[in-house]
Amino acid sequence: MHCPFCNATDTKVIDSRLVGEGHQVRRRRECTECHERFTTFEGAELVMPRVIKRDGTRQPFDEEKLRSGMLKAVEKRPVSIDQIEQAMNKIKSTLRATGEREVPSEMIGNLMMESLIELDKVAYIRFASVYRAFEDVSEFGEAIAKLQK
Ligand SMILES: [Zn+2]
Repeated sequence: MHCPFCNATDTKVIDSRLVGEGHQVRRRRECTECHERFTTFEGAELVMPRVIKRDGTRQPFDEEKLRSGMLKAVEKRPVSIDQIEQAMNKIKSTLRATGEREVPSEMIGNLMMESLIELDKVAYIRFASVYRAFEDVSEFGEAIAKLQK
């Protein structure tokens, strides 16, 4: 890597350690020319798949939208922000693990419901009722049946 100070082409790594729960490598480098030191961070580039909406249009994955949906569902429920973040991370890694470049929005909705059912049953019902807009009573019955499991 080139030195950001003098643009020399040769820099050496003098220290390397894992940070961010092991998802990043922090490296201290020193320029062999000017001896300035600097830090680089290296992490895997994790690209979220795009989302295929019900009408067939594609959208970029919107983490904020997901989070606000979850937060709305758990409003005034005994669920911590940490639990939400953990659930979000799980959903994101599941989506990345598909290896698909595009995933249907239903899949994301289902993953959110799976997370919520573990976190809080009331939050799950709230979310499911809004998300699915329960087209018929049998769907609602299904949601209740899942709760009773
Ligand atoms: Zn330099």
